[in-house]
Amino acid sequence: MTNINKYFIANLKMYGNKKYVKSIKKVIDFKKKKKYTKVKLIYCPPYTLLSDFVNYTKNSSIEVGAQNCHQDEFSGSYTGSISPNMIKSLGAKYIIIGHSENRISGDNNSIINKKIISALSQKLNVIFCIGETFKEKKNNKTKSVLKKQIISGLKKVKKINKVIFAYEPVWCIGTGKIPKTKEIRDQFIFIKKLIKNRFNSKNPIIVYGGSVDPKNIKSLNQISEIKGFLVGGASRKPNKFIDIIKKSII
Ligand code: PEP
Repeated sequence: MTNINKYFIANLKMYGNKKYVKSIKKVIDFKKKKKYTKVKLIYCPPYTLLSDFVNYTKNSSIEVGAQNCHQDEFSGSYTGSISPNMIKSLGAKYIIIGHSENRISGDNNSIINKKIISALSQKLNVIFCIGETFKEKKNNKTKSVLKKQIISGLKKVKKINKVIFAYEPVWCIGTGKIPKTKEIRDQFIFIKKLIKNRFNSKNPIIVYGGSVDPKNIKSLNQISEIKGFLVGGASRKPNKFIDIIKKSII
């Protein structure tokens, strides 16, 4: 994961059917421009479209990831669940783990840790989401929450260099709000230091997520600690997603 100047990860959430896949042609063509060679672009569609995305992007440098997985690496009696091994077999390279929308529906730090270990055992890369709720922020708990999420989530994890960290304040996801520049920088410095010290990782990749759009991307790009973006809503429209990348790579 070196030699990359910025990461752009599209989290399509539960949006998109078969017809949607071809709409990303614009993004594929855009990514072929020399100027964006060092940009890493990852699409995370719903499970149902993983194969389509892998096939449709196969002659491009765009990579594909899933939005979640079961903690069991291979198989089991878990109705409706998908394992890292199944995701890998479709040609996906990444899995988002610990997204707040999945934490809300039951993924605690211990389950997240098991999911991360299973995904890494399948030689997949992990996009590990962390972030505080508004209540935690108001109670000055942000740093302790982040610390707990990171330390518990990465318990016994060895391949830290296969993990991209996504700092996503929960109160910013889908709300149109973003933290103040100073707050983001502060949390990034804290997260980076923690990962370096605890896990001996020289240069962890940390991206920001939460209401990123073409209007706020310029100010977010002033924060040099941010190595890229996890984009939800604004990634669904190819033109908006391209605009975000264009404004980031000057
Ligand atoms: C997300 O779901 O990870 C996300 C950042 O969503 P949005 O960009 O819509 O806030």
